[in-house]
Amino acid sequence: MYCFSLKKCLTSIWLFIISYSTTLGSLPCWPTDNPAFFQNKPMDTYIQPTASGLVASGTFGCVRNRGTRFHEGVDLKSVHRNRRNRPLDSVRAILPGIVVYVNTNASKSTYGRYVVLRHTLDSFGYYSLYAHLHEVHVQLNQMVQQGTALGIMGNTSCSKIPLSRAHLHFEIGLSLGSKDTFHAWYSKQGFKEPNFHGEWNGMNLVGLDPLEFFKSGSDFLTFVQNQPVAFTLQIATSTLPHFIQQNQALLTTPLQTEKTLYGWEIAFNWLGCPLRWTPLYGLKLPANAVYVLHCNPIELSQHGCRHTLEFNKQGQVLLAHVLQRQLTLLFNARFQLFY
Ligand SMILES: [Zn+2]
Repeated sequence: MYCFSLKKCLTSIWLFIISYSTTLGSLPCWPTDNPAFFQNKPMDTYIQPTASGLVASGTFGCVRNRGTRFHEGVDLKSVHRNRRNRPLDSVRAILPGIVVYVNTNASKSTYGRYVVLRHTLDSFGYYSLYAHLHEVHVQLNQMVQQGTALGIMGNTSCSKIPLSRAHLHFEIGLSLGSKDTFHAWYSKQGFKEPNFHGEWNGMNLVGLDPLEFFKSGSDFLTFVQNQPVAFTLQIATSTLPHFIQQNQALLTTPLQTEKTLYGWEIAFNWLGCPLRWTPLYGLKLPANAVYVLHCNPIELSQHGCRHTLEFNKQGQVLLAHVLQRQLTLLFNARFQLFY
């Protein structure tokens, strides 16, 4: 660092320390004690494949059943086992946060025993999720630091995972509806089981690719804002969703509470994750109408297993079931596509 005066020099050092510590505070650590990813080792040194043996099957995206089944996180392998082949690996908080959910009843979820942390950053909140744990070492509402041990890796799930393939299922993303809107949606679906997990049910969560996030070297807000846009919708509703109240950092312009809200223009990625929100004030649209303003068929077709926007035989765009669900969870209403 080159300084012309002591005062300027001290100011520069101080600014450097502030920016460095801010960056440090928002970059994640790996959720297990396996250093392989940051050592650029091959993926099979840290990813646990399914029974197929294909390493890609443990990564994020349309990676299962020949690309027809979506996996919303990454499966991280065990590198420390005891004599009975049970994992000894600690599972750690990737960033400081608060424990917002702990499921200790392994038989009540495909996630088995799992912990959800909520992290906040500049009017923006996101979650990280740690599943299939053998032991849980934290409690609800506990504040945790980056690296805090949350539990021990395991193979718990309501669907059987053999001990040999015990792993950490790790997710990171955004939660869509509030506890009430998720409950309202869930109770209308006719599922056999009650919802045991409140808003921390996987159907209320939109995960993004954890490996891409770790590679990005950015904080999670920047990572979300840099996602490629797959489509943009204009949505007619006067609702100010819980989601955007919690995530005002995703607004393109500040809310003007003195004006009447008529709707939203929202840019989504291919998963239907809402990336950028623009409130609409001077525009009257039919109630609960949705218009597709922009669509990137290449971005959508790369990930065929996630049914957000689809096209019929005539090439007409349709709202598919995943996107319908996500819009209902966001706005607690059902929408109709207009052309
Ligand atoms: Zn998984």
